[in-house]
Amino acid sequence: MKTTVADILDRLEKQYGEQEATWPTDPYLFLVWWHCGYPASDKACSKGWDSLQKNVGVEPEKILQASPAKLAEALRPGGMVPELRAMRLKEITARIQDEFGGDLRSALVGPMAKVRRILKKFPNIADPGADRILLFSECAPIAAVPSNCPHVLVRLQRGQERENYGVTYREAQQAIEAETPATFGARKRAYLLLKYHGQEVCNRTKPKCEHCCVKAVCAYFSGKQRGRSAKA
Ligand code: SF4
Repeated sequence: MKTTVADILDRLEKQYGEQEATWPTDPYLFLVWWHCGYPASDKACSKGWDSLQKNVGVEPEKILQASPAKLAEALRPGGMVPELRAMRLKEITARIQDEFGGDLRSALVGPMAKVRRILKKFPNIADPGADRILLFSECAPIAAVPSNCPHVLVRLQRGQERENYGVTYREAQQAIEAETPATFGARKRAYLLLKYHGQEVCNRTKPKCEHCCVKAVCAYFSGKQRGRSAKA
């Protein structure tokens, strides 16, 4: 029988404890943070963010006033292509000032299709990024799924994930939507626990199944034990 999302989350929380977002949750600040690292990861973005805060500042006027060279230098600790990221940051900040009067959050109201369109016009923001912003800024209790590990929930409930990222993302999203309350607290909890587990144990290419705290209820693991990957 398929393990419920509630059971999976309880087991993960028992193992890892309560999780908290380690990134800025305001939509504008998240966009800045997201461009502080490349390739984007929590670690890279946080490194670049700390340096940006220290050397330039994250307020729109500070980013707009800084020279491209100074901005790129501040972003360098976050990884590759700091010059390009500096340019993107200036574009993002200018758009938020010009189109939204400096207040992106206030523009994220109304029909979800419109709100998503606004967010997806920013560089490097696709559906998973838009979902993450909307959930953590508490604009809408979307069933967001961590973009780097949608496979976690799918493996647990169905077995081997699909090759198509979009299908796997949708399957994970549907499960969270159907099985968790549509509240900010419940959906953020699901996102953070699945993210932590995906990063630390259920890696995309090499899951550490033998050391996994939820292997007893995992369809992927039980399929492997039988000599094949379980399929939905
Ligand atoms: S048993 Fe393996 S596939 Fe299943 S959740 Fe754990 S690490 Fe992932």
